[in-house]
Amino acid sequence: MDIITRIRKANFLGRGGANFSTAKKWEMFKNEKMDKKYIICNASEGEPDVFKDEYLIANFPEEIINGIKIALDFFSNSQAYIYLRKDLYLKFGLKLKKIIKKEKIKLFKETGGYLCGEETTLISSMEHQRREPKIKPPYPLQKGLKGKPTLINNVETFYYISKIAKQEYKKTRFYCISKDAKKQGVFELPIDWSVKKILQKTKNYPEYDFFVQVGGGACGKIVFGKELNKSVCGTGAIIVYNVKQDLIKLMQKWVNFYINENCGKCVPCREGFYRIREILNSKKIDWKLLKDILEVMKETSLCGLGTSAPTAFLSLMEMMKYR
Ligand code: SF4
Repeated sequence: MDIITRIRKANFLGRGGANFSTAKKWEMFKNEKMDKKYIICNASEGEPDVFKDEYLIANFPEEIINGIKIALDFFSNSQAYIYLRKDLYLKFGLKLKKIIKKEKIKLFKETGGYLCGEETTLISSMEHQRREPKIKPPYPLQKGLKGKPTLINNVETFYYISKIAKQEYKKTRFYCISKDAKKQGVFELPIDWSVKKILQKTKNYPEYDFFVQVGGGACGKIVFGKELNKSVCGTGAIIVYNVKQDLIKLMQKWVNFYINENCGKCVPCREGFYRIREILNSKKIDWKLLKDILEVMKETSLCGLGTSAPTAFLSLMEMMKYR
């Protein structure tokens, strides 16, 4: 049985946040006819309060590299890179190089910020071009690094590719629990557990009134009450907040993060965040206008940053109605 069949049988979805079938992605990559192909392990993890990939690189580098080697063996004429956030490169670069030895795997030190986790920006940064997203299609799978088909998978995905190949995959994933949680950390638990069960089993279920942000980091959805009975998608992050904190300040923190990290290429996102900051800083917040701007950003922004960031604001505003 080849590796794609094994991944398909495991019903495995990539762990980078898009919840896309890894078997399908690998199949599409395989079908691209080209003399040279690239494989990239995306270790640019830049979401605030998310540190699951860092945990995996620190604790299971052999497993991750084995996953990349499996891809290299399966796709002929391929070359691999591990694209590392700057501090991860400095912290773990030497250790990774020792494990890699003479394999066709090179390390690349990230040159930008949060947006470099976006696939087309990541490729542009490796080509020393402007660090901003490109319109898709063509997708990196078709035309990526140096114009060649490029397969980009997240650190956790490669970790589990290795586990699937060894028939050790037990339908688990890594959850990163942070912020006001009592026992912050990274926990490997079943993929179908609810947020509530994860918090209870890790002894993180708060005694105070709380809400959580799940899926991504600053762009994750705000979840509370009955919704805690749902499982976690996206990157597997669970950020716990005490409800007593200043919710406007929380939104201001998010908006400042996005003002710093967006690339300014498209109007809805670039201008939208400035308008949101103005509204949040005003004495009387115009909630309707804020909601309208967020909806427009969600529908019309060019890349995932502008389309997904409004989720956090809109879901927090929804929660505020009930509290
Ligand atoms: S949505 Fe934001 S980050 Fe993405 S291209 Fe537009 S300005 Fe840049």
